Amino acid sequence: MFAGKTTRLIGLYNESTVDINERIVVKPLLDNRYQANKINSHGGLQILGHRISKAEELYPLIQPSTKECYIDEVQFFTPYIIEVIGEMMMNGIRVIAAGLDRDYLNRDFGSMKALKNLATERIEVSAKCNVCQQEAHYTYRTNESPDLVLVGHNDAYEARCETHWKEGMSARNQV
Ligand SMILES: [Zn+2]
Repeated sequence: MFAGKTTRLIGLYNESTVDINERIVVKPLLDNRYQANKINSHGGLQILGHRISKAEELYPLIQPSTKECYIDEVQFFTPYIIEVIGEMMMNGIRVIAAGLDRDYLNRDFGSMKALKNLATERIEVSAKCNVCQQEAHYTYRTNESPDLVLVGHNDAYEARCETHWKEGMSARNQV
């Protein structure tokens, strides 16, 4: 959540030498509070892209000239995204996808596991624990809502190390 995945994705996008018209950038449409065609990082970086609500909506965006496809927050798409990505890869399109491994209950998030198996290269980024500042691989939800996707509530999540994630979860279970 705060590990800088989108920042890294945007960095790779900016480093690319592929013509801008031969690249696609997409992100799941979870809410419409933001300008629909912009992908923003926490650090303030921004690139233009499409917000799509389903993996299938990627197809009409793919042109014969498409060479690269950047997907942010890939964990929120249905498993069908794996089909779409696989198909793009078979057609020689380089796919760069950023996503969160695990949800706030430490379960595999969406299709991330399948996606990691499909990947030819993986870059892991981690955040700092909100409690002790050590490396954090867990997402802790400070809000009690049982919905997996809490839209527009970035303050409802924080990065935590294993110790402080477990501490928080066990304190919650005692309530
Ligand atoms: Zn910690």
